[in-house]
Formats: sequence, structure tokens, C-alpha cells
Amino acid sequence: CGIVGYVGGQSALDVVIAGLKRLEYRGYDSAGVAVLADGGLAAAKKAGKLANLEKELADRPLPSGSTGIGHTRWATHGAPTDANAHPHLDNAGRVSVVHNGIIENFAGLRAELTDRGHELLSETDTEVVSHLLAEEFSSCGDLAESMRHVCRRLEGAFTLVAVHADEPDVVVGARRNSPLVVGVGDGESFLASDVAAFIAHTREAVELGQDQVVELRREGVTVTDFDGRPADVREYHVDWDASA
Ligand code: GLU
Repeated sequence: CGIVGYVGGQSALDVVIAGLKRLEYRGYDSAGVAVLADGGLAAAKKAGKLANLEKELADRPLPSGSTGIGHTRWATHGAPTDANAHPHLDNAGRVSVVHNGIIENFAGLRAELTDRGHELLSETDTEVVSHLLAEEFSSCGDLAESMRHVCRRLEGAFTLVAVHADEPDVVVGARRNSPLVVGVGDGESFLASDVAAFIAHTREAVELGQDQVVELRREGVTVTDFDGRPADVREYHVDWDASA
């Protein structure tokens, strides 16, 4: 029910966990994180409260990295278990995806992927996206382009956020009928389902429009529609008091 993404000079894990805590009020049944570090991708996820995930991270620390994503889940497809918690990876463990919403046509996509030899490890509607992204990335080598391509195939409501180990300084987000807000910092960029997640770091925000994809880098953000046409980016200043 909450999403956070980060790329910048701080520990991505710290920023993402703190952001998820700011979104806890929305309610959730599981939580997870992924960070890009040392040329690879590392993830942890747990059913239950964020405290369970924090305990897992204390017992089995992730390598520290400056690009990461996090998720709190409100299960719609598949029970609230560790395996169904997000992030979901591809079989090579190079791409990681978090999702809020419902992908209506996941069953057909899942059958298609299974036919092509993918092994799906969860009962979620979400997991098809990590496998589809991995396939697209292997032909185009660009995560934002892969996301646009995959989104054109999806039906339903979604906020999707993904990272790929081969693009270690990039976080990509997409939205349809589900919220996603971008935070523009100084040498760092954020995205989240709610500005509350990053307001401690920046108050310069960009609201993503319907059917748009954002590519997040340290230096800034690029927004397009699902066909790759550049979108107007309207920055605004968040002036409400977030300390409440
Ligand atoms: N439909 C997805 C799932 O059940 C995402 C749920 C959510 O919005 O947290 O895993």
C-alpha cells in the first residue's frame, strides 16, 4: 500500500525504510526492500510489520548501496506471506519490482511467461512484471524503455517501481489509476506513493500524470508517456507541515 524509491548519495536502505515508516498509516500486511550494490541486487521481504523486516535486515544485513526501492503490501492476489511480499525479482535476480494496485490480465501473461520457461515463485499478480521487464531489458538494455513496453501490455490499476542491476543509478516508476509522486533533491531523487515519504529530504515535487513513466537519476528526472513521448513536468513546492 506504500512505495518508496531512491537514488542519491545517502544509504538507499535508510532512506527507503524511513520513507516506508511515514507511509505505515495507510495499513499493510507485509514489507520489503531491494538495493543495488556491488554490481548486483539484494532484497529482503517479510510478512507482517516493518519491524519484522527490520529484524530480518539486522540478522542478514544487505550490502549498502545508493539506489533502492521499498514496499508495503496490502494483499489482493495471494496470501500475506514472505514469498508473496514485494519486491519480486526475475529468475536471474537482476531486476526487482514493487507494485501497488491490481494487474487484471496477469493470468494470461503468467501462462505466456511459463510457456517461455520462466519460473514464477509467488501467487501475486505483480510477479509477471519483473519477468516481462527482464525480457524487454535483455533486448533493449534500457529500463525506462522496458517499463514503457511492459505497461502497454498491462490492464488494471498500478503504481510500478523497478530497478535493474545493469543500470545501477536508475529507478523507474510508472502509473495508471494509482498515485506516484517524484521528489527532486540536490544530487538525489525520490519517488513515493505519497510526498510524506520524502518530505524530510526535499519539498520540490513532481506529480506523475496518468499513464506516464519516470526515469529517476541523481541529476534529475525524465518523464514520458507510455509511448516514449516527453511529458510536461510540472514541479511544485510542498508547503504543508509534514512534522505532524
Ligand atoms: N496486487 C498486488 C499484490 O497483491 C499489490 C497489492 C498492493 O497494492 O499492495 O501483491
